[in-house]
Amino acid sequence: MKYNVVVIGSGPGGYIAAIRCAQLGMKVAIIEKYDVLGGTCTNVGCIPSKALLDSSEHYHNAEKAFEEHGITTKGLSFDFKKMVDRKNGVVKANNDGIAFLMKKNKIDTYFGTGSFVTKNKVAVTNSKGEKTEIEGEKIIIATGSKPTQLPFIKVDKKRIITSTEALTLSEVPKHLIIIGGGIIGVELGSVYKRLGSKVTVVEFLDKIVPSMDDEVGKELLRVLRKQGMEFMLSTKVTGASVKGKEVTVTAENKTGEKVELKGDYCLVAVGRVPFTEGLNLEAVGVAKDERGRIAVNDNLETNVPGIYALGDVVRGAMLAHKAEEEGVYLAEILAGQKPHIHYNLIPGVAYTWPEAASVGATEQELKQKGVAYKSGKFPFRALGRARASGDLDGFVKILASKETDEILGVHIIGARAADLIIEGVVAMEYRASAEDIARMSHPHPTYTEAFKEACLMATESRPLNM
Ligand code: FAD
Ligand code: NAD
Repeated sequence: MKYNVVVIGSGPGGYIAAIRCAQLGMKVAIIEKYDVLGGTCTNVGCIPSKALLDSSEHYHNAEKAFEEHGITTKGLSFDFKKMVDRKNGVVKANNDGIAFLMKKNKIDTYFGTGSFVTKNKVAVTNSKGEKTEIEGEKIIIATGSKPTQLPFIKVDKKRIITSTEALTLSEVPKHLIIIGGGIIGVELGSVYKRLGSKVTVVEFLDKIVPSMDDEVGKELLRVLRKQGMEFMLSTKVTGASVKGKEVTVTAENKTGEKVELKGDYCLVAVGRVPFTEGLNLEAVGVAKDERGRIAVNDNLETNVPGIYALGDVVRGAMLAHKAEEEGVYLAEILAGQKPHIHYNLIPGVAYTWPEAASVGATEQELKQKGVAYKSGKFPFRALGRARASGDLDGFVKILASKETDEILGVHIIGARAADLIIEGVVAMEYRASAEDIARMSHPHPTYTEAFKEACLMATESRPLNM
């Protein structure tokens, strides 16, 4: 079969690129090596982790927060298997939704591993070993990423696990040791802490969630510690081994002191690396960069004309919505349009409770670049809405240009930060000043009022409710 576009990989980058190409009149095929569509995000990433975060949060609230609201829960318990089954059902509904979208947009789906034969021909080998060859005028590589391995730790996928296995455990760990205090560490750590595990996070740096603004990281650390998670910062893991049901993790802190931890599971969450195995890139000479990512130009084209790449397999944040934006962008480039992506305006979120979210420059980045800025910060505990719900932790922090008042960065930790952050994205897309936002009516009582108040703080240091 011949197509205008062949997409390899059905994650959020690949399937969204396929849909947009089809909308723009192209004949499209998508290849997926697993027997379900949706990639990491749908199957072992965003969706299942959020399903378990939601279930565990309900339990946590029933156990810890309901009483304050006058609600008593006698004999409270949970059925972990049912939680995991529900999560599987949520994933399946998303798989089916994407399959429906492929049909609706008349995109041909091929299940099997895609590998280059020539620059316009891809062989698809399915699980039975059967091979089909398809041709594309343009090929899009959207093969995503996989968990980073530490060379000195063997992940056996039973006791020493990655995020993939952590989403399908058959029991709640007694003591979960997590290597890495990044986004996966804090999210999956939260799930199991809420369900009763002892959770110890061992982090190499002196802070958690290093991609976020330092003040947000500090507040998140404080709140998670208050919730009972344990953190060992500035501590380098040196090994992990399994004996029966026991995992031993060895580490060294910055003073050279040796540490030994014993648990029943160890989650290795030290980042992700681009995934290109099986693509046979050598056959066509597609170049990679120094970090093993497929090298692309501003149009997401590789060094081989007609072959493109996007999402986790190329440079930039490893986020589903970044991959999606690139999918739309690339399809429109292929259709001869002139789209744009503001990479600086791709928000990042940690779905802990409270949530943490950010867009634009962090304070440490502005300092490093020598940008003159002002900062406005407003704590949620000063808001009526936050008092009503009892979600008092956190703040909104606005960073604005000292010279022009233009908003340069928004950093939020607090209730519903994941949804609040879009106000920062819209403001920055339209290059709003802090005063522009401060003069807009925000509904009362809502968490959004903290955004307005932080803008008032940034623009003129004149909050109304503090
Ligand atoms: P992927 O989603 O990785 O999809 C790539 C697909 O390509 C896979 O299905 C793979 O099987 C297929 N493939 C690979 N090689 C071949 C081949 N040769 N032939 C055919 N098919 C192939 N991001 C967020 O924005 N929000 C979140 O809340 C979030 N939570 C996450 C939680 C976890 C636990 C993890 C691990 C990740 C999370 N992410 C989240 C990150 C997000 O999942 C990724 O950024 C996103 O999935 C990247 O999309 P992609 O399309 O580039 O690749
Ligand atoms: P990460 O890059 O967020 O964090 C990895 C952490 O591990 C860092 O803090 C790093 O300092 C630490 N680390 C590295 N080596 C170590 C060692 N030897 N010992 C101790 N600590 C060590 O990576 P992640 O948490 O694995 O997540 C992977 C990717 O998936 C991220 O890029 C993230 O964007 C994406 N993701 C996103 C979401 C979301 O958007 N909510 C959720 C989960 C994952």
